Amino acid sequence: MVMPKAPMTAPARLGLLLPWVNAAPPVPVGTVRRHLRAFAESFDGSAEVGHLRSHGTPAHEISQATPAALEALRTRLRELLRRGFPPNIDVKDGQWINDQPWGQTFPLMQAFSSLRFGVICMGRPAPRKLVRASSHERRTFRAPGAYTLLVEGDLADLVLFFVAHLLTAPGMAVVSRCAAPAPNNWEARCHRFIVGSGVGRPPECCSGACRVRAHAERLRTLEREATGRKKRKGKR
Ligand SMILES: [Zn+2]
Repeated sequence: MVMPKAPMTAPARLGLLLPWVNAAPPVPVGTVRRHLRAFAESFDGSAEVGHLRSHGTPAHEISQATPAALEALRTRLRELLRRGFPPNIDVKDGQWINDQPWGQTFPLMQAFSSLRFGVICMGRPAPRKLVRASSHERRTFRAPGAYTLLVEGDLADLVLFFVAHLLTAPGMAVVSRCAAPAPNNWEARCHRFIVGSGVGRPPECCSGACRVRAHAERLRTLEREATGRKKRKGKR
Protein backbone atom coordinates (compact mmCIF):
# COMPACT_ATOMS: atom_id res chain seq x y z
CA MET A 1 0.00 0.00 0.00
CA VAL A 2 1.33 3.44 -0.89
CA MET A 3 1.11 5.77 2.10
CA PRO A 4 -0.01 9.33 1.28
CA LYS A 5 2.89 11.79 1.60
CA ALA A 6 2.68 13.86 4.81
CA PRO A 7 2.50 17.60 4.06
CA MET A 8 5.83 19.37 4.47
CA THR A 9 5.86 21.60 7.56
CA ALA A 10 6.78 25.29 7.35
CA PRO A 11 10.06 24.73 9.32
CA ALA A 12 10.98 21.89 6.91
CA ARG A 13 10.39 24.22 3.92
CA LEU A 14 12.59 26.92 5.42
CA GLY A 15 15.12 24.23 6.41
CA LEU A 16 15.72 23.61 2.66
CA LEU A 17 17.24 27.10 2.35
CA LEU A 18 18.80 27.85 5.75
CA PRO A 19 22.13 25.95 5.37
CA TRP A 20 22.70 27.94 2.17
CA VAL A 21 21.57 31.25 3.74
CA ASN A 22 23.98 30.68 6.65
CA ALA A 23 26.68 29.46 4.21
CA ALA A 24 28.53 27.73 7.01
CA PRO A 25 29.91 25.52 5.58
CA PRO A 26 29.36 26.71 1.97
CA VAL A 27 26.71 24.74 0.04
CA PRO A 28 27.54 23.49 -3.52
CA VAL A 29 25.65 25.34 -6.30
CA GLY A 30 24.00 22.10 -7.51
CA THR A 31 22.48 21.50 -4.07
CA VAL A 32 21.35 25.14 -3.87
CA ARG A 33 19.50 24.81 -7.20
CA ARG A 34 17.88 21.51 -6.17
CA HIS A 35 16.70 22.89 -2.82
CA LEU A 36 15.49 26.16 -4.36
CA ARG A 37 13.39 24.18 -6.83
CA ALA A 38 11.91 21.92 -4.11
CA PHE A 39 11.18 25.03 -2.03
CA ALA A 40 9.43 26.93 -4.86
CA GLU A 41 7.45 23.87 -5.99
CA SER A 42 6.24 23.24 -2.43
CA PHE A 43 4.04 26.35 -2.72
CA ASP A 44 1.11 24.35 -4.04
CA GLY A 45 -1.89 26.27 -2.70
CA SER A 46 -2.32 23.98 0.34
CA ALA A 47 -3.33 25.19 3.81
CA GLU A 48 0.29 24.64 5.03
CA VAL A 49 1.50 27.43 2.74
CA GLY A 50 -1.44 29.73 3.44
CA HIS A 51 -3.23 28.91 0.13
CA LEU A 52 -0.45 30.45 -1.92
CA ARG A 53 0.60 28.84 -5.19
CA SER A 54 3.52 29.44 -7.50
CA HIS A 55 1.96 30.14 -10.93
CA GLY A 56 4.32 28.17 -13.17
CA THR A 57 7.54 26.76 -11.73
CA PRO A 58 10.69 28.88 -11.94
CA ALA A 59 12.69 25.69 -12.73
CA HIS A 60 14.26 27.15 -15.89
CA GLU A 61 15.24 30.38 -14.13
CA ILE A 62 16.77 28.39 -11.26
CA SER A 63 18.89 26.25 -13.63
CA GLN A 64 20.00 29.38 -15.56
CA ALA A 65 20.79 31.56 -12.50
CA THR A 66 24.48 32.48 -12.38
CA PRO A 67 26.46 31.95 -9.15
CA ALA A 68 26.52 35.78 -8.79
CA ALA A 69 22.70 35.98 -9.07
CA LEU A 70 22.33 33.18 -6.51
CA GLU A 71 24.72 35.00 -4.17
CA ALA A 72 22.71 38.24 -4.56
CA LEU A 73 19.54 36.30 -3.66
CA ARG A 74 21.28 34.78 -0.63
CA THR A 75 22.29 38.26 0.58
CA ARG A 76 18.70 39.52 0.24
CA LEU A 77 17.38 36.50 2.16
CA ARG A 78 19.93 37.04 4.94
CA GLU A 79 18.94 40.69 5.24
CA LEU A 80 15.23 39.85 5.31
CA LEU A 81 15.73 37.35 8.15
CA ARG A 82 18.34 39.38 10.06
CA ARG A 83 16.34 42.59 10.06
CA GLY A 84 13.18 40.78 11.07
CA PHE A 85 14.74 40.46 14.52
CA PRO A 86 14.85 43.59 16.72
CA PRO A 87 18.28 45.30 16.60
CA ASN A 88 19.12 44.50 20.24
CA ILE A 89 19.00 40.75 20.23
CA ASP A 90 21.25 39.50 23.04
CA VAL A 91 22.54 40.45 26.44
CA LYS A 92 26.17 39.78 27.29
CA ASP A 93 27.77 40.91 30.56
CA GLY A 94 24.68 43.05 31.22
CA GLN A 95 25.04 44.91 27.89
CA TRP A 96 22.80 44.65 24.85
CA ILE A 97 24.45 43.32 21.71
CA ASN A 98 23.30 45.34 18.71
CA ASP A 99 23.30 43.44 15.44
CA GLN A 100 22.55 46.43 13.23
CA PRO A 101 25.16 48.81 11.84
CA TRP A 102 24.28 52.48 12.33
CA GLY A 103 21.71 53.80 9.84
CA GLN A 104 19.99 50.47 9.14
CA THR A 105 16.24 50.44 9.65
CA PHE A 106 14.21 47.79 11.37
CA PRO A 107 12.27 46.03 9.95
CA LEU A 108 13.56 46.01 6.38
CA MET A 109 10.78 47.24 4.06
CA GLN A 110 11.30 46.60 0.36
CA ALA A 111 9.57 46.50 -3.02
CA PHE A 112 8.92 43.23 -4.85
CA SER A 113 8.56 45.00 -8.14
CA SER A 114 8.38 41.99 -10.50
CA LEU A 115 5.57 40.14 -8.70
CA ARG A 116 2.13 39.66 -10.23
CA PHE A 117 -0.83 38.20 -8.35
CA GLY A 118 -4.06 36.49 -9.25
CA VAL A 119 -6.71 34.37 -7.54
CA ILE A 120 -8.63 31.27 -8.53
CA CYS A 121 -11.76 29.95 -6.85
CA MET A 122 -11.27 26.34 -5.84
CA GLY A 123 -14.96 25.52 -6.37
CA ARG A 124 -15.75 24.11 -2.95
CA PRO A 125 -19.03 22.12 -3.02
CA ALA A 126 -21.62 23.86 -0.79
CA PRO A 127 -23.90 21.89 1.51
CA ARG A 128 -27.41 22.11 0.02
CA LYS A 129 -28.86 24.13 2.87
CA LEU A 130 -26.38 25.77 5.20
CA VAL A 131 -28.96 25.96 8.02
CA ARG A 132 -29.44 22.17 7.91
CA ALA A 133 -25.75 21.31 7.45
CA SER A 134 -23.83 19.64 10.28
CA SER A 135 -21.31 21.78 12.15
CA HIS A 136 -18.49 19.83 10.42
CA GLU A 137 -19.95 20.54 6.96
CA ARG A 138 -20.36 24.21 7.85
CA ARG A 139 -16.78 24.50 9.19
CA THR A 140 -15.36 22.83 6.07
CA PHE A 141 -17.39 25.12 3.80
CA ARG A 142 -16.33 28.28 5.63
CA ALA A 143 -12.67 27.31 6.24
CA PRO A 144 -9.97 29.55 4.69
CA GLY A 145 -8.89 28.56 1.19
CA ALA A 146 -12.03 29.04 -0.94
CA TYR A 147 -9.70 30.96 -3.24
CA THR A 148 -6.02 30.26 -3.90
CA LEU A 149 -3.61 33.16 -4.29
CA LEU A 150 -1.40 32.81 -7.36
CA VAL A 151 1.93 34.57 -7.70
CA GLU A 152 4.56 34.75 -10.42
CA GLY A 153 7.62 36.90 -11.04
CA ASP A 154 11.41 36.99 -11.16
CA LEU A 155 13.14 34.25 -9.20
CA ALA A 156 14.67 36.49 -6.50
CA ASP A 157 11.45 38.39 -5.76
CA LEU A 158 9.46 35.17 -5.81
CA VAL A 159 11.71 33.26 -3.38
CA LEU A 160 11.96 36.27 -1.06
CA PHE A 161 8.19 36.67 -1.04
CA PHE A 162 7.69 32.93 -0.36
CA VAL A 163 10.07 33.11 2.62
CA ALA A 164 8.41 36.28 3.98
CA HIS A 165 4.99 34.67 3.62
CA LEU A 166 6.18 31.38 5.14
CA LEU A 167 7.47 33.13 8.27
CA THR A 168 3.86 33.96 9.19
CA ALA A 169 2.78 30.27 8.95
CA PRO A 170 1.99 28.11 12.03
CA GLY A 171 5.12 26.64 13.62
CA MET A 172 7.52 29.35 12.45
CA ALA A 173 8.21 30.65 15.97
CA VAL A 174 11.08 28.14 15.84
CA VAL A 175 13.41 30.48 13.90
CA SER A 176 16.12 31.76 16.22
CA ARG A 177 19.75 32.84 16.10
CA CYS A 178 22.73 30.98 17.52
CA ALA A 179 23.72 32.69 20.78
CA ALA A 180 27.17 31.02 21.10
CA PRO A 181 30.36 33.13 20.92
CA ALA A 182 31.59 33.59 17.33
CA PRO A 183 34.57 31.40 16.31
CA ASN A 184 37.84 33.31 16.95
CA ASN A 185 36.03 36.26 18.62
CA TRP A 186 34.22 35.69 21.87
CA GLU A 187 33.14 39.34 22.01
CA ALA A 188 30.81 38.73 19.04
CA ARG A 189 28.03 36.12 18.62
CA CYS A 190 27.76 33.36 15.98
CA HIS A 191 24.24 34.56 15.01
CA ARG A 192 23.59 31.92 12.34
CA PHE A 193 19.89 31.32 11.80
CA ILE A 194 18.50 28.14 13.33
CA VAL A 195 15.21 26.48 12.52
CA GLY A 196 13.89 23.88 14.96
CA SER A 197 11.58 21.01 14.10
CA GLY A 198 8.56 22.90 15.46
CA VAL A 199 8.32 20.48 18.40
CA GLY A 200 9.67 21.64 21.76
CA ARG A 201 12.15 24.44 22.39
CA PRO A 202 14.25 25.54 19.41
CA PRO A 203 17.94 24.59 19.79
CA GLU A 204 20.16 27.32 21.31
CA CYS A 205 23.22 26.55 19.19
CA CYS A 206 23.62 25.87 15.46
CA SER A 207 26.33 23.20 15.72
CA GLY A 208 28.39 20.99 18.02
CA ALA A 209 31.33 23.41 17.84
CA CYS A 210 29.06 26.29 18.95
CA ARG A 211 27.68 24.21 21.83
CA VAL A 212 31.26 23.60 23.04
CA ARG A 213 32.08 27.36 22.86
CA ALA A 214 28.83 28.33 24.63
CA HIS A 215 29.58 25.82 27.41
CA ALA A 216 33.18 27.07 27.79
CA GLU A 217 31.88 30.66 28.01
CA ARG A 218 29.39 29.72 30.73
CA LEU A 219 32.20 28.07 32.73
CA ARG A 220 34.39 31.16 32.31
CA THR A 221 31.58 33.45 33.52
CA LEU A 222 31.00 31.23 36.58
CA GLU A 223 34.74 31.24 37.34
CA ARG A 224 34.89 35.04 37.09
CA GLU A 225 31.90 35.42 39.39
CA ALA A 226 33.50 33.07 41.96
CA THR A 227 36.81 35.02 41.82
CA GLY A 228 34.88 38.30 42.23
CA ARG A 229 33.10 36.96 45.32
CA LYS A 230 36.43 35.78 46.86
CA LYS A 231 38.02 39.22 46.28
CA ARG A 232 35.07 41.03 47.88
CA LYS A 233 35.26 38.68 50.92
CA GLY A 234 39.02 39.32 51.23
CA LYS A 235 38.46 43.12 51.32
CA ARG A 236 35.96 42.90 54.19
ZN1 LIG B 1 26.50 28.89 15.98
